[in-house]
Amino acid sequence: MTGAGFAVGEFEIIQRHFAALGAARPDVVLGIGDDAALLRPEAGSELVATVDTLVEGRHFLPGADPHSLGHRALAVNLSDIAAMGATPAWALLSLTLPDADEAWLGAFAGGFAALAREHGVALVGGNLARGPLGIAVQLLGAVPCGTALRRSGAGPGDDVYVTGTPGDAGAGREPGAAAALRRRFEYPTPRVAVGQALRGIASACIDVSDGLAADLDKLAAASRLRAVLQDELLPVSAELLDALGDARARHCALTGGEDYELCFTVPAARQTALRAALPVSVCRITRIGSVAAGSAAPGADAPGFDHFAPDRAR
Ligand code: ADP
Ligand code: MG
Repeated sequence: MTGAGFAVGEFEIIQRHFAALGAARPDVVLGIGDDAALLRPEAGSELVATVDTLVEGRHFLPGADPHSLGHRALAVNLSDIAAMGATPAWALLSLTLPDADEAWLGAFAGGFAALAREHGVALVGGNLARGPLGIAVQLLGAVPCGTALRRSGAGPGDDVYVTGTPGDAGAGREPGAAAALRRRFEYPTPRVAVGQALRGIASACIDVSDGLAADLDKLAAASRLRAVLQDELLPVSAELLDALGDARARHCALTGGEDYELCFTVPAARQTALRAALPVSVCRITRIGSVAAGSAAPGADAPGFDHFAPDRAR
């Protein structure tokens, strides 16, 4: 797109901050610089595609740390790719900026690049425009044909698991939160290796962005089942307990959102395979209940985050 309208040329901004960002991949036939990127997916694989937008005032506050924003903009997409059991590969970045602030751009690109390199992701294109601050990242990945995890596929009686300690990020979003909690909000850890290890083991999977209870309900609904959560099994971090006390910490673990953990189901026959594929050294996983026949009662409380719910201000 021409006419982005920055004092510094659009071309210079892209060259300085975004060209050659992330991993160098042999399957990028043509990256940044032409009208579009050329990518070569591996034979026998399915492309997995996702996009997410962060808008100032809605997903982050004015003045938010740009390094964290660069991390989060990619992390939320990596989390979706992880939930499909896929391997991330190529990202596109659409940025709307009020001005070309070099320090902001450098920090944003730095946060994005560090996570991209960690996961072997190449930035292959994007767009720049002048306007209110907004960040959209599209991420493409791949999975061997027919092996992707889905929200549907859970069977009655399957156990439900969650990675990590949900609720930390939700509490970390609040002003004045303890440093350890704030870090979980600003630098979520997308569970990419866990998602890949769950192929052939999990019967269904979803990533927790809106809140554990709401997202588990989505998985159960997609599988035409109902979720049976055992509150006493919820993994609640010591930091969250310290900050909120037992009752509010548990509520936050169920509803906080922005955890970017994985919630998944495993049939009884694959429990041993699960423990072998995911030793505790890789990632903490906790059984939190099961899914059962039947559907959730209409109007059942699903207190997660819904952008279009009539009575929510966020
Ligand atoms: P066009 O006008 O054909 O859409 P642009 O001049 O907007 O192309 O972009 C030139 C090249 O720079 C393209 O390869 C595009 O994908 C890439 N690009 C533009 N903005 C970004 C960005 N924010 N991050 C990464 N690549 C970008
Ligand atoms: Mg063009």
